[in-house]
Amino acid sequence: MTLHDLIHTCRNIYAIGRNYRAHAAELNNPVPSEPLIFSKTLSSICCGETIALPFHLGPIHFEAEIVLRIGKAIPMGAFSDLSCVSHLGLGIDFTARDLQARLKEKGHPWHRAKSFSNAAYLGAFVPFETPWEDQRFQLRVNEKLVQAGDTRLMIFSMFQLLEAINVGLPLMEGDLIFSGTPKGVGEIHAGDSVRMTSEAMNLDLTAKVVAQP
Ligand code: ZN
Repeated sequence: MTLHDLIHTCRNIYAIGRNYRAHAAELNNPVPSEPLIFSKTLSSICCGETIALPFHLGPIHFEAEIVLRIGKAIPMGAFSDLSCVSHLGLGIDFTARDLQARLKEKGHPWHRAKSFSNAAYLGAFVPFETPWEDQRFQLRVNEKLVQAGDTRLMIFSMFQLLEAINVGLPLMEGDLIFSGTPKGVGEIHAGDSVRMTSEAMNLDLTAKVVAQP
């Protein structure tokens, strides 16, 4: 299946906040005692070699993450094992950080800071075969290593994430889950190149960031 085939069936994009201790610490956030679940809208999906971002919203941060794709629908509360996961991939959860901080301060949903056009970048997927516990991935910005993720450092495992999501939310075929970002998040600018790599997934993806007109 092509990347387009894999994402065009998506109906829900779920995302996990603060799933790495060192990332929670770098943003002065407490480490959660249960998964922090939010969603990104379908209209924020983008893929390809150019990522156009709305810098008029203020500073935008990159958050490189492993993305899970659900291949088999699980009704709410029926999750029991990982056989519903069809693919793993790499993506970037772009976040308008100052806008998010202002919304958080007011106690408002941070939706607008997470679901602008192209905020959910999807690089590529591979069939889910390799053990989840041994996934490492890297993000380079302008060829400088800025994030290095390792699923063994995650606070909540993939099983725990899906179990927690499915308590109150359905998992539909094609749904995508951004599983949380490691430390090293930072600001991205127009003209930057982003490169995501994973040896276990055999992925090496490069894209260019431009400003949304
Ligand atoms: Zn994120």
